[in-house]
Amino acid sequence: MSLKKRKRKAKRVDYGEIIVICEKDLKHKRIDGRKVDAWCWDDGSVVQIQKGARGKRRLRLCVHELLHVCFPEEKFPNVTESSILHAEKILADVLWAEGYRRSDNKIF
Ligand SMILES: [Zn+2]
Repeated sequence: MSLKKRKRKAKRVDYGEIIVICEKDLKHKRIDGRKVDAWCWDDGSVVQIQKGARGKRRLRLCVHELLHVCFPEEKFPNVTESSILHAEKILADVLWAEGYRRSDNKIF
């Protein structure tokens, strides 16, 4: 395996065969004209998180994008962005209050 491939692989984590979460520099990524700190691919196979996002902000970004993976627009047309934001806040606030944090086993 080439060094380039190894570096690319090191920044990715596979959960089952479906979702890959990776850090990317998304500072120029825009959706509907808005700058975004995270997004998921339309097929739900990849979630990209802004490089450097840490702590509760990172948790919120992960939860938010995973909710999009769980409720894709084509299957759940009634699940709006507002609904995702509402669920994200509740889930991230409760998980954070319960003490869930990334471990020292850095994966990125
Ligand atoms: Zn969203």
